[in-house]
Amino acid sequence: MSTAYPDSRVEHEGATFWLEKDADGTKELVIEGAEADVLETFEGSADAGAFRAPVTPDNAKALRAALPWLTPQLFGLEMTAGTGDRLGLCTPGHVLAFKEVGTINPVFAQQSTREMGRCGRTPRNVIDDATWGAFQAGWTGPVGADADHQKTEESLTACAEAGFVFFTVDPGDEMDMAAHDDDEATLRSKAESLDLSAVDTSVEDLVKRYAGTTVELESGPLVLDEAEVVRAAVKAGPALTRGMELITHVKGLDVPHEFEFAIDETDKPTTYVEHVVLVMELQRLGVELVSFAPRWVGQFEKGVEYIGPLDKLKENFDKHAEIARALGPYKLSLHSGSDKFSIYPLFAEATAGASHMKTAGTSWVEALRVIARHDPNLLLEMLQLSLESLEENRHSYHLSCDVTKIPSNPKREDADELVTALDSRQVLHVGYGATLEKYGDEIKDVLRAHEDELYEVMRTHFIRHLEPYVR
Ligand SMILES: [Zn+2]
Repeated sequence: MSTAYPDSRVEHEGATFWLEKDADGTKELVIEGAEADVLETFEGSADAGAFRAPVTPDNAKALRAALPWLTPQLFGLEMTAGTGDRLGLCTPGHVLAFKEVGTINPVFAQQSTREMGRCGRTPRNVIDDATWGAFQAGWTGPVGADADHQKTEESLTACAEAGFVFFTVDPGDEMDMAAHDDDEATLRSKAESLDLSAVDTSVEDLVKRYAGTTVELESGPLVLDEAEVVRAAVKAGPALTRGMELITHVKGLDVPHEFEFAIDETDKPTTYVEHVVLVMELQRLGVELVSFAPRWVGQFEKGVEYIGPLDKLKENFDKHAEIARALGPYKLSLHSGSDKFSIYPLFAEATAGASHMKTAGTSWVEALRVIARHDPNLLLEMLQLSLESLEENRHSYHLSCDVTKIPSNPKREDADELVTALDSRQVLHVGYGATLEKYGDEIKDVLRAHEDELYEVMRTHFIRHLEPYVR
């Protein structure tokens, strides 16, 4: 006995499409009234007047072709939010939040190649899970797809082939972080040996082009003084070179594309001069960004509130947004947005709609509430494993959790509180790789068995993330 998801039912070009679930939880696409040329794009069989097709990658692709709004598209400068879903099960809950809040365009498919590796997913899995989830919950608006934190040509090609269209190019590893604080003599000597010929320039060139120039901002002129231009060139020049290689690669792939340039995962804040020089150089090289992700001031840790003085961050948001309007416009991108509720109003106000917000792990950690309620022992085992893998995970994430504050022998009834409390929340947040590897099937079984509850957890949590942008 199968039950239909009522929200999934949609009519298009004379045919009706919907999703059903049978008693053991297996989902199936059902199509009625479609022409033979549509049906033959699906794998499946006719059964009492309806055509039934299993949930497979090929059928996801056919569904995107049949219902074109499910194909990821470009959003340009429109306001967007990404909901990265490591489990591939949360999109229907995200849809509920986007429907309720309105205005903001969703990027349900969003994952970095690093995360895909840790979750055992391919770019196609990410796109397909988002397709099925959006369809199930009846999303009929446009969707985006963000190949997040791309660092290699190979992963860009794989994401492009899977159908990603928003490419977050991340050359942050090439930045010279020491140059943020180097003295002038050190900077000068680094500048002498810096080869920027691949982007058809040199530090000397950049000084000629930018030193002493002014960018007129709403709050007053930003003067680019020579020492700061040299610093920006030395710190960010190698990232410009690498970023251009990655961008040029995507341009050669002959797929729809738009670019975000992301240097948010670096240790030192992006200076205003650096922002100006990087973007103006990209423009000189023929790249029109739709989005730029600077490294903001303060600490953006996983799954917890912003750490740092809010007035300094507000000033930082405001100034970067003024630069983005003066040079572009293009959107500013707020990464690691998860759970930083205090800063959304500031970011929304500064960017006035020209914004992209990304959350990644918050869906994962909030989904664990459902585990805490229905299989607390599994949650406790996951926490234990996350603690064991913490040292390894610390290398890729900024974390301030103190493991000594986590109860050493937590009880079953404390499981939900472990998802909430900062220290255990961060440990669980970054422990997804090890826990999915060991307990992935069990975790997904619990979530599938309680999927309505999972969607409700996502809905309430994401409304809090989205609402500040539409006020
Ligand atoms: Zn990021």
